[in-house]
Amino acid sequence: MAHTITHWCDGKPFTGTSGNTAPVTNPASGQTTGQVALAGLEDARTVIQAAEAAFPSWRDTSLTRRTQIVFRFRELLNERKGELARIITAEHGKVLSDALGEVSRGQEVVEFACGMPHLLKGGMTENASTKVDVHSIRQPLGPVAIISPFNFPAMVPMWFFPLAIAAGNTVVLKPSEKDPSAALWMARLWAEAGLPPGVFNVLQGDKTAVDELLENRAIKAVSFVGSTPVAQHVYATATAHGKRVQALGGAKNHMVVLPDADLGLAADAAINAGFGSAGERCMAISVLVAVGDIADALVEKIAERAASIRTGDGAQNSDMGPLVTRAHRDRVAAYVDAGEAEGAALVVDGRQITVEGARDGFWLGPTLLDHVTAEMSVYTDEIFGPVLSVVRTDSYDAALELINANPYGNGTAIFTNDGGAARRFQNEVEVGMVGINVPIPVPMAYYSFGGWKNSLFGDTHAHGTEGVQFFTRGKVVTTRWADPSHAGIELGFPQNA
Ligand code: NAD
Repeated sequence: MAHTITHWCDGKPFTGTSGNTAPVTNPASGQTTGQVALAGLEDARTVIQAAEAAFPSWRDTSLTRRTQIVFRFRELLNERKGELARIITAEHGKVLSDALGEVSRGQEVVEFACGMPHLLKGGMTENASTKVDVHSIRQPLGPVAIISPFNFPAMVPMWFFPLAIAAGNTVVLKPSEKDPSAALWMARLWAEAGLPPGVFNVLQGDKTAVDELLENRAIKAVSFVGSTPVAQHVYATATAHGKRVQALGGAKNHMVVLPDADLGLAADAAINAGFGSAGERCMAISVLVAVGDIADALVEKIAERAASIRTGDGAQNSDMGPLVTRAHRDRVAAYVDAGEAEGAALVVDGRQITVEGARDGFWLGPTLLDHVTAEMSVYTDEIFGPVLSVVRTDSYDAALELINANPYGNGTAIFTNDGGAARRFQNEVEVGMVGINVPIPVPMAYYSFGGWKNSLFGDTHAHGTEGVQFFTRGKVVTTRWADPSHAGIELGFPQNA
């Protein structure tokens, strides 16, 4: 029977008063498995108030104590990550090994946040002016909002909340309504780790909940991840309400293969990065740019490999799971129809795939389109499904021009054995995360994650030192203690002496 997926407010489940819910489905069976609460305005305000009330004492809790709790959360997460992975697979559809990988990448940020005492150390200058000392400190902002997408229900929230919490902020997480249970599971884990009530809250809902987070004066900063149109709305609205914002948007990631590359390795990489998680990754490769006369051989190798991918229930023995909802599956299939109609060559067609015993799942098999051009909708739009488009170019310069003209700039990769060409690419390409013979270059937790252009609005990226910067404000203190040498009145602007 479908269960209710509640909010989490002030250390406990909270049903809310709106009475509105939305169905949550298992994408492999097509069955409704839960009803998620959708916050009304009053519910959103109740949850925000809990975060606001918890802030003063959490800010004043010592760094040692705060990071001990983060460390305990890490230990519990590490012990039980299998449970969380199963929840992700059941609501998102990705295969279990992929769900476990997602949790592990999130856990790395928790581990980075355990070093917060070191990361928050300020600077100190003795005797900057005669007998005057200067030091800098970084302080938390207050209650902050995290609004996350469906495709990484655990990892994306973990890009932000470990740092926000360790730095002394309180959090309201608004997960995607398509797979909301992971957030609730993590809230329970925080409670078990000893986090005081109100420091980590979950607000379930849709636009109503998001818009209240963007406008409510108690919320001091917003970390958003989702599609570009919503990221633009979030950035415009929250900054207009005086908040600090980092809004990560959509993507269209190109993988360039130069003629000297090892085509077998490049084909493996294209398969993994194009079809892993059914293409529902913001760092998925959706465009393969074949340079020179290798295109036919490369397409053939990718097609051979695509035929061996087992599409099926992520909880069973399969390589690729279903898409997240039926509507999304149909939208992706419509792009394949359009690509064909616009003149692309359909090399592998995933539209007719069936999965034994799971006829109602949201299936779409790996799909490969060749001879795609920059005008076709399969190229211009973010599809977010297992559809790999091959664009053929005759030179490195044409490949670079294509990528730099694209409005997105999240991730990209180049495959080559020529170090000089790779070095030139990393220097010239207008994209935030670059892989050299690495198709999904997701930075480690101690670096920062973020794209350029329409893939990120704001000026700080997620996690790493930029994440610490985002969740804290700087303060510089200039100190002089009474000393007879400083006596006397001086109305001029302070100058160093
Ligand atoms: P989405 O934009 O539909 O939803 C993201 C969040 O915004 C959800 O919590 C949703 O409830 C909320 N939302 C949706 N519509 C809204 C509206 N009109 N007003 C206010 N809030 C709204 O994105 P999604 O489909 O859940 O996720 C996929 C998208 O996320 C893709 O575009 C993908 O590229 C992007 N993404 C980007 C990154 C990155 O790092 N740049 C990472 C993961 C996903």
